[in-house]
Amino acid sequence: MHEWSLALSVIQTVDKWAREHNVEVRKISLSVPIVSQLDISILREAFDMLKKESRLEKAELEVKVRTPRYRCRACGYMFGHEEVASQIEALVGKYGEEYPLHLVPELLPAFVKCPKCGSHDIEADLSIQVEQIETV
Ligand SMILES: [Zn+2]
Repeated sequence: MHEWSLALSVIQTVDKWAREHNVEVRKISLSVPIVSQLDISILREAFDMLKKESRLEKAELEVKVRTPRYRCRACGYMFGHEEVASQIEALVGKYGEEYPLHLVPELLPAFVKCPKCGSHDIEADLSIQVEQIETV
């Protein structure tokens, strides 16, 4: 249930910021990498439960799932998510719902290798980001 801890940490962080600036949050946009395979409906449910009595109480949550581009540091090959999707699916099959990238998408290079040379020295932006906050 990584979605709950993610929702909680976003709310706590943004609530602290909103209190410091004395504003109410109306909308928040999150960007999550597809490799995290977050369940967006659970994330929304968690957000709506946990936002009560915070400065986000009336906030709407927007979630954008982004498909990162990858680059191999060993051979310089640039590739899209579709080229490693089967490797990631195999991982999900092996570990189930709580598979490692669900918890920490930044771990991707440990499990996925370059489709061209097989190196694990892969870079991509896999962070979970708060992209935008609208306030009143
Ligand atoms: Zn490579």
